[in-house]
Parts: sequence; C-alpha cells; structure tokens
Amino acid sequence: MSLTRKRVLVTGGAGFLGSHLCERLLREGADVLCVDNYFTGRKDNIAHLLTDPHFEAMRHDVTFPLYVEVDEIYNLACPASPVHYQFDPVQTTKTSVIGAINMLGLAKRIGAKILQASTSEVYGDPTVHPQTEDYRGNVNTLGPRACYDEGKRCAETLFFDYHRQHQTQIKVARIFNTYGPRMHPNDGRVVSNFIVQSLRGEDITLYGDGGQTRAFCYVDDLIDGLMRLMATGPDITGPINIGNPHEIPVRELAERVIRLTGSASKIVHRPLPQDDPMQRCPDITLARAVLGWAPTVALDDGLMKAAAYFRQMLAESQERQDRLSA
Ligand code: NAD
Ligand code: UDP
Repeated sequence: MSLTRKRVLVTGGAGFLGSHLCERLLREGADVLCVDNYFTGRKDNIAHLLTDPHFEAMRHDVTFPLYVEVDEIYNLACPASPVHYQFDPVQTTKTSVIGAINMLGLAKRIGAKILQASTSEVYGDPTVHPQTEDYRGNVNTLGPRACYDEGKRCAETLFFDYHRQHQTQIKVARIFNTYGPRMHPNDGRVVSNFIVQSLRGEDITLYGDGGQTRAFCYVDDLIDGLMRLMATGPDITGPINIGNPHEIPVRELAERVIRLTGSASKIVHRPLPQDDPMQRCPDITLARAVLGWAPTVALDDGLMKAAAYFRQMLAESQERQDRLSA
C-alpha cells in the first residue's frame, strides 16, 4: 500500500453497498482493502476493480480477528435482506456482534476511525414517525427479525462503549432502505423483487395489502452520506439517520415499477411477514445540519437506473444459457 494515500478497510466490500463504496473511495484516491466472506456478496460486484493497483480483495469472515494496518474502517459486513439474514440467524447475530468486537478491537489497536453500518431496523416497528435518532425503538426481541435488529443494536452499544472506554473514534450511520445497481437479484428485497418480476413479466408479489410504507434512497446518495460522516471530526459520533425521506406505500412502489418498466405484470397479494414494520421514514434533520447532506436522486430516476442494471443482468444470463444449450 502507498504511504501517501489514505488506507481504507471496507468489510462487506463485495456486497451491494460495499462495492459502490470501494469504487467511490478508489475514485477519491484511497488505497482500498475489501474484506468479504462472499455469503451474500459477489466477486462480480468488484471484478472491475481488481485491475486497480490500489484495490485489494481478501476473503475473510469478520467473526474471526483480522490484523491489517489502515487509517479508516467502514464496517458493512452483514447480510441485509430479511431472506438472507433469516437463513442462518445465529450466524447473523455473530456477524453483527463478534464482527463489531473484532473490527473495534482492530480500530483500537491501530488508532483507526471506524464507521458502523447500522440500520433503521434498530427502531423496529416504530411508534414514532418519522424516526428521529433519539427514538429508542420498538423491536420484538423474540421474532424472526430479531437476529438482525438486536445484533445491530448490540453493535451500536459496543461502538459507544469502545468510544467511552478506549476513546475509539466512532461513527454510527443508521441506514434506511437503499436500492440500486448490484442489489442481489434474488435477495428478496422489495425493489429488486419488483423490478426483476416486472422485467420477466411475472406476478408482482405484494405482501399484505401494500399499505405499509418505506422511503427509498438511491445508492449514490447513501454512499455520499456515509463518506461525509466518516470525514467529520472526532466529536461527531452519530447515530445519524441516512436515508431518503420520500415515503410511499409499498403498493405504490409496485405500481411505479410496472409503469416505469412498461411491464404487463399483475399484482398478487401474499401474506405479510411476521413483524414487518408498518411504517418507516427517516427524519434527516440531523444529517442535513451536521453533514450538509440530503438525497438528490428522485425515486423514478433511481428506479430507471436500477431497472437498466437488472435488464442487462437478465440478458447476460439468458445469453449464457443459450450458449450452454447450443
Ligand atoms: P449485502 O448483503 O449486499 O452486503 C453485505 C456483505 O457482507 C456481503 O458482501 C456479504 O458477503 C458480507 N458478509 C456477510 N457476513 C460476513 C462475514 N461474517 N464476514 C465478512 N463478510 C460478510 O447488503 P448491503 O445492502 O450491501 O448492506 C451492507 C450493510 O449496510 C449491512 O451491514 C447492512 O446491515 C447495512 N444496511 C443496508 C441497508 C440497505 O438498504 N441496503 C439498510 C440498512 C442497513
Ligand atoms: N415486500 C413486498 N413484496 C416483496 C418483498 C417485500 O411487498 O416481494 C414488502 C415487505 O413486506 C416490506 C417492504 O416490502 O413491507 C420492504 O421489504 P424489504 O424486504 O425490502 O425490506 P425491509 O424494509 O422490510 O427490511
């Protein structure tokens, strides 16, 4: 690694958000070390970065200690979609909690700044709306989402204890629903599901009556928010909400995706999953004031970019199948 460039570790760097973050960091002149166990991340997400001499990819599971020398750590390693994090819930909690302990231990030893990718899920099914950072949340500790929600809550606790006990420089970002190119097409999240279903002409699976709300942030905006938070001085720790406050019912998202992709798909209803939050929307007053940050990409524009990515991915996979069967 170069002596003059900032050395940055991104855990979960081969995932959806991580790969965009690695790309942006490289563009801004950093030396980037991407650490991932490829549970939900894909080598394809970072393949285009491998020829850059300032990029390095390492297969590693953050539940085991890591010994490297860097200036900053972005801790993103953790499956984020409900389907993936509920696949092995014990491992999900271990990744959040033991992963946080290992990365905080590393930050403490080498004196690095460390940012945690926390989540709006720390608010659970919120009774305060929109959610402000001082709201303490409404999480069911026993439900199927708890492995993720409680793991992330405990990680926040660890970050603040390392800060108080060891003066570790921490930054905690509470990320709200984010979408864009490189989401896993089968990860079950609503934006990827609806777009892929629309492009294939399949039924759009709307859970419940679709009256539950979410607010969707385009990936470029989100990455900008994370990097601004990392650049703040030592007195800024967060937690700080990063998301787009444009809230819509999930039913409306389905209708928009059908319209934007020109699809003939029909909406079909499926049961609402247990503990599915009925409403979610970030209050970003703090992010505006402290980071000078607000999202800039309109939902329809972002959905079109995501749809273009999935359209190309589906076409490439069809071409591969055609070649194999020829
Ligand atoms: P993702 O599943 O695409 O990426 C997570 C990455 O972490 C993957 O590359 C995966 O292989 C890796 N990983 C998982 N367990 C690991 C382990 N034990 N060791 C090393 N690597 C491991 O998800 P994403 O959407 O990119 O989310 C990134 C982070 O942001 C997560 O921590 C997630 O909780 C947080 N977040 C995301 C959103 C969102 O809407 N995308 C919202 C809130 C919070
Ligand atoms: N959802 C849906 N159909 C799908 C996938 C998800 O109606 O095919 C709903 C889900 O019930 C939730 C919202 O969309 O209310 C967002 O789901 P996602 O899994 O993307 O993230 P969450 O915000 O629940 O973590």
